[in-house]
Amino acid sequence: MKQFENAALQISILSGFLRYPDIYTLPGLLTGFGRACHNRLMKTNLIQKTTEFALHIVEAYVHPGDTVIDATCGNGFDTLRLAEMLRVDAKAGDAADAKAGDPKMISGRLYAFDIQPEAVEATRELLRREGYGAGLPDGAASGQADGADHPGRIGGDSSKAAPGRITVACLGHQQMLSCFEGLESMPEASAIVFNLGYLPGGDKQITTTTETTLDAVRDSLRLLKVNGLLCITMYDGHPEGAEEKRALLHFAEELDSKLWHVSYISMLNQRNAPPEILLITRKR
Ligand code: SAM
Repeated sequence: MKQFENAALQISILSGFLRYPDIYTLPGLLTGFGRACHNRLMKTNLIQKTTEFALHIVEAYVHPGDTVIDATCGNGFDTLRLAEMLRVDAKAGDAADAKAGDPKMISGRLYAFDIQPEAVEATRELLRREGYGAGLPDGAASGQADGADHPGRIGGDSSKAAPGRITVACLGHQQMLSCFEGLESMPEASAIVFNLGYLPGGDKQITTTTETTLDAVRDSLRLLKVNGLLCITMYDGHPEGAEEKRALLHFAEELDSKLWHVSYISMLNQRNAPPEILLITRKR
């Protein structure tokens, strides 16, 4: 174990040099080393935390300037992570050091949907608190996909040069295409994320449902760009979730293998119905 830790520390020190080549001063050097060592040794054990695992995979598909969609924003944690993936005002690695609330800028477009006004407000509040308020239009009434916040009316520019915009809409994901009406063309998303089920801390009776989820997933495939990723975290510990998962797996199995590549990640030996991940990427 000790040997492993020493080896990991050496790799960390090396990666500190590689990741932070602009560190020339002694304090900077120590800070950089500390940060690299911490990141390397304290990283989350990904397969033990399915939601983190899903986001880790998504991160590999998202770059600043992209269009990304959170189809179930809930309390906003996934939306915030997507915003961080689009962030452009700091070098990679600096994000961890930024204080919550420091103004941050994204490049690209981030859309987030939920049917519950309190989820929409919680997501907006979290984004503002974490410094992403500039990307959110002002004056948008809480819980409304209103004019100021409606991508169809603000042009939906996803050019890399344009400052990024974030739209948090109180709208069922099965209606997300309606959000893009009026744009010259449909956005091409590099990642679309679904985290199914009910709002943690909210009403457990309000869950995603099989029919609307399937509709939204079909629409999502239309929005996905080549090599883009659709990532669905599924929970079969409640009756609707079990049916939803069954239907999604059936749908995904039937997708044309020439056009789509599908992967399914299951925590095989865990109790209490752990979440599972369904991944779909467009091949052409
Ligand atoms: N991504 C969230 C987060 O980071 O906190 C967690 C999402 S929570 C597990 C599932 C969410 O899906 C709930 O907030 C629920 O209101 C929402 N939901 C249910 N049906 C929906 C629908 N048709 N369209 C969009 N969101 C829906």
